[in-house]
Amino acid sequence: MSVPRDLRLTWTAPLAAVVCALALGSCAAGPEGGAGGPAPAVVTTAAGDTMVFVPGGTFEMGSPAGRDDERPVHTVRVAPFLMDLCEVTQAQWDRLVLGNPSHFKGPDRPVEQISWADAALYCNKRSRAEGLEPCYDEETARCNFDADGYRLPTEAEWEYACRAGSRTAHFFGDDPRRLGDYAWYGANAAKKTRPVGTRQPNSWGLCDMYGNVAEWCNDVYEKDSYAQSPSENPRGPGKGERYVLRGGAWNSGPEACRSACRAAESPGFQDACFTRDAIGFRCVRRVPPAAGLFSGASAPAGPQGDPGSAGAPAAAKPLQVGLVYDDAYLRHLTGPGHPERPERLTAIVDRLRKTGLLEQLVPIKPAPAAREWLTTVHSAAYVARVESSYADGVTYLDTLDVPISEASAETAALAAGGVLAAVDAVAAGKVASAFCAVRPPGHHARRDKAMGFCIYNNVAIAARYAQKKHGLAKVLVVDWDVHHGNGTQEMFYDDPTVLYFGVHRYPFYPGTGAADEKGEGRGRGFTVNVPLAAGGGDAEFKKAFTEALEPAAARFAPDLVLISAGFDAHRDDPLGGMKMTAEGYADLTRIVKRIARASARGRIVSVLEGGYDLEGLAASVEAHLRALREP
Ligand SMILES: [Zn+2]
Repeated sequence: MSVPRDLRLTWTAPLAAVVCALALGSCAAGPEGGAGGPAPAVVTTAAGDTMVFVPGGTFEMGSPAGRDDERPVHTVRVAPFLMDLCEVTQAQWDRLVLGNPSHFKGPDRPVEQISWADAALYCNKRSRAEGLEPCYDEETARCNFDADGYRLPTEAEWEYACRAGSRTAHFFGDDPRRLGDYAWYGANAAKKTRPVGTRQPNSWGLCDMYGNVAEWCNDVYEKDSYAQSPSENPRGPGKGERYVLRGGAWNSGPEACRSACRAAESPGFQDACFTRDAIGFRCVRRVPPAAGLFSGASAPAGPQGDPGSAGAPAAAKPLQVGLVYDDAYLRHLTGPGHPERPERLTAIVDRLRKTGLLEQLVPIKPAPAAREWLTTVHSAAYVARVESSYADGVTYLDTLDVPISEASAETAALAAGGVLAAVDAVAAGKVASAFCAVRPPGHHARRDKAMGFCIYNNVAIAARYAQKKHGLAKVLVVDWDVHHGNGTQEMFYDDPTVLYFGVHRYPFYPGTGAADEKGEGRGRGFTVNVPLAAGGGDAEFKKAFTEALEPAAARFAPDLVLISAGFDAHRDDPLGGMKMTAEGYADLTRIVKRIARASARGRIVSVLEGGYDLEGLAASVEAHLRALREP
């Protein structure tokens, strides 16, 4: 969540300067052999990415000596645009999208195994992160060229930028033996991608236009499209089965690494001829009005407004919802047969990926919670014991149901820290709400004791963090796990600044959570428990929410709502013995949203607790997230 919201472009060099590779890492300077042409300028975007200003102009598109689909050569004029200096790297991808699909891993290598739709969705995410208007309609995949956000280049833009004023087969001339100076391709790449920007750029400063990965263009491919191509800003045919790829890749011969060479692939890789790990992309965007560039005037606000502000014209759009997840959460190992296992999280992420929801969420990167925050609710002695136990030869913490492995202490700190990162994102208005797919869970963890699969009390730590770090004085904890959140209740039992609401099966593990547990001292009335008999389902939970939670929350008027989101009351859960459905969890979510909107500007951070039937868990999380996204 470190993407700055500064909307301005900052020039790293004056427009008129001949820039080629000022501070561009290893992208070698020197437009020798290129065809001169206008001087390029390099700009740094709000997010810190480097783009090249490609001036508008006219060129001869296609090649008389090339393949059939490169003819007829025709004159094309393109408007100026900004183009990524390099192919989109895995580091850039990771900043915005959860899960790196690339075969050849490395932060500086181009991201690959990217479908056309993946690339378009990335463009939209990148636009939103910078407050720009996304170009792609995510239903129809249609591109709005008037939007100021990122998009894929048209085929004409790509070829124009690649040629950089040249008319030869390659931008450096006709002799393919020089290709190795400019490209990682079949002859020199050793069967893999290479870090971007490590060969010489073309004379406009663009790197890796040939080789490394073939680049998606925005256009649909049609073999004969040049015959009826318009001369002004052509955008390709309206319909077709395949989309254009340009530039050749690490596995291409010199013939494919030519400025005019066209390739095509189905946008979702159905019957792919190209190998997927040879396909990536780079982005372009419209040049902002000159006035905006030079005066530093802000661009109009994008759709990612303050989630709490009502009546925005974008109100019908889905809300931005963050997702905390990291593969490191799989490293806490509990041993064979333990229900709280790493597969719980993989089931969730797989489902979100398959249903396309993952793409729609804003990834939030966790960092381990600092001791200073862990000790807001746990004793320093307990934290020290968690940290040293495994090395001391301990195989479980306090109770037999909390087995630990080498990475357990670290993972537990990362789980708590993930929730803190979500609080930061929600408090800053970067997302309306966030879900934390973390483990180990937390709500049974006590000040000095692990229990019930829990090590650190993630939600309780987050409540204190929100208060102290963000000044969110009153925090409501809604705990719908089938088990009572004894640890959380106990930590705030005498505290009127945290309202704990628990609905759970009772009597049941851990034995607490009776209706007469209501808090004590100044905290009296700030603990609310609704015990349910075994076998209860959607109706019973919903009734508890409307009859007990809503009135209590209305009186309390929280500044932030945390959800201890256990999904072990699902009807398929092996532990819960209740009958909730995924849709039931969506309904509960909607009620919590109503509460959060009334006093907390919609701020919700939801944290995974239990849920042990992989399918029921994944379906419930999906329904929960979809409800969070509803406008
Ligand atoms: Zn539970």
